[in-house]
Amino acid sequence: MLALQGDVAEHEAALRRVGAEPLRVRLAADLDGLDGLILPGGESTTIGLLARLHGLLEPLRAYVAQGRPVWGTCAGLIFLARDAGHDQALIGAMDIHVDRNAFGPQVFSSERDLDVEGLEGGPLRAVFIRAPAIRTVGPHVKVLATLPDGKIVAARQDAMLVTSFHPEIGGDDRMHAAWVASCGRSRVRAVA
Ligand code: GLN
Repeated sequence: MLALQGDVAEHEAALRRVGAEPLRVRLAADLDGLDGLILPGGESTTIGLLARLHGLLEPLRAYVAQGRPVWGTCAGLIFLARDAGHDQALIGAMDIHVDRNAFGPQVFSSERDLDVEGLEGGPLRAVFIRAPAIRTVGPHVKVLATLPDGKIVAARQDAMLVTSFHPEIGGDDRMHAAWVASCGRSRVRAVA
């Protein structure tokens, strides 16, 4: 887990429930040997600022450029995106353009049942908190979930997965289980 700011503990709890061993990343050296990296929800401007202050921005870009597994949730989705429409520090690797706070202010936070492509067992209870939406995707991005109004809320590009909602607090660990499995090592050590 990238552990600079945001809901790190909630992801760690979900990872433990699915049998993974979460580690915290705060320094470049912490990226060594990880099987996957989660970028949590929180506040993407703050996460970017802290990543820059900790000397982590370039190491994170290098980690992603190596094709190693990364999953950005909510603010983490924004942080991974190529363009978020604001002047803020981004990893900038995923070919998506994002609308921050696409659902409006906190009062429009919501829960809804969502079909996510490739996720077995029926719709996922998805929690949206001041969530972003993906406005446009590049040719190598696969859309995994869309709301009835057309907002794209989950997508994949190579080893990069993004969700604009929070699977770590929906009470349904299937996305964590599937992602850990996709990190594909016999000794699974996920990152926080
Ligand atoms: N709105 C926040 C941002 O722009 C993201 C909110 C979240 O991660 N729950 O960074």
